[in-house]
Amino acid sequence: IISIKNIYKFFGELTALNDVSLDVQPGEKVVVIGPSGSGKSTMLRSINKLETIDKGSIRVDGMDINSPENDINAIRQELGMVFQSFNLFPHKTVMGNLTMAPVRLKKVPLEEAEARALMLLKKVGISDKANVFPSNLSGGQQQRVAIARALAMNPKIMLFDEPTSALDPEMIGEVLDVMVALAKEGMTMVVVTHEMGFAREVADRVVFMDHGQILEEGTPDRLFDSPEHPRLQKFLKQIL
Ligand code: ATP
Ligand code: MG
Repeated sequence: IISIKNIYKFFGELTALNDVSLDVQPGEKVVVIGPSGSGKSTMLRSINKLETIDKGSIRVDGMDINSPENDINAIRQELGMVFQSFNLFPHKTVMGNLTMAPVRLKKVPLEEAEARALMLLKKVGISDKANVFPSNLSGGQQQRVAIARALAMNPKIMLFDEPTSALDPEMIGEVLDVMVALAKEGMTMVVVTHEMGFAREVADRVVFMDHGQILEEGTPDRLFDSPEHPRLQKFLKQIL
């Protein structure tokens, strides 16, 4: 459902992505790990064209995201994205955050969007917070709203970029629980995270990036228990 072929991304002299290829099957859960600056976010952001690649190709659900024939906004509707910083609209209530895109971009009737929003808030465990503003929520609650907001557009694929790394430790679990539940429902997910417990429980495949390249990939057990590449061995020693 995602096909990344030989992509490169340059920032001036710096090669942020250096010949990266990755295919993700429908329903597959891929966890991406790697040191800071290795290109994880750049790769994830390239999938929904928040970054424009310099070489190579990316297809989402069969559509080449760089082909002028394809409408990038239509492709983006298939992709939900959740960032480290929750990026909620501060001047809108939780409900407003969840209904805005479906109403504006998909022309969903407000009542229908609100009903779906309530269902999603229930799913992420905060149905009592529909009418509060983001600033009155804990970090874990805000991130769960951000996940619900992405789901409100009914995406086929969810992209997560270190969704728990800005959270206090006691709030990490509640966000991971929501992500595990989503995974069990069959959502296709690409998740940048260093939460090894999550990776072991959920990932079909773990991908290790360093210096803009994928150096190793495999099942979580294989990668974590018998890493082959010396850089992966070193990385795992540092984070475990
Ligand atoms: P982290 O774990 O710290 O989030 P990352 O693996 O997500 O790291 P990226 O954010 O993808 O790494 O960055 C890859 C490289 O590209 C880094 O060297 C970074 O400094 C550089 N980079 C990223 N975005 C830009 C930009 N907009 N302009 C210039 N350089 C950038
Ligand atoms: Mg990053």
